Amino acid sequence: MSLAARYLTSEHGKVQMKKETENWIRSGSVLSADPSAKISCPVCRGANLEVRDVRYGKNPELLERHLACPKCGAKNILHMKRPLSE
Ligand SMILES: [Zn+2]
Repeated sequence: MSLAARYLTSEHGKVQMKKETENWIRSGSVLSADPSAKISCPVCRGANLEVRDVRYGKNPELLERHLACPKCGAKNILHMKRPLSE
């Protein structure tokens, strides 16, 4: 009985984690195409993500797009390659 309960708990945790990851991926794909898109936080849904581009490395075409929630502090970073036309 207690084993079954523990199993259910860990399964539930896994599902929650996977859903949050999927939300980040979905938000990231929208914001990589349009950094001004209003995307609600994948974690708390209580605020729109703030987007900030930061260059990294020696290649000027590479940048990091930082996504951050001003409400709960959730963060994620997308690694991007700038389009050559820019
Ligand atoms: Zn949040």
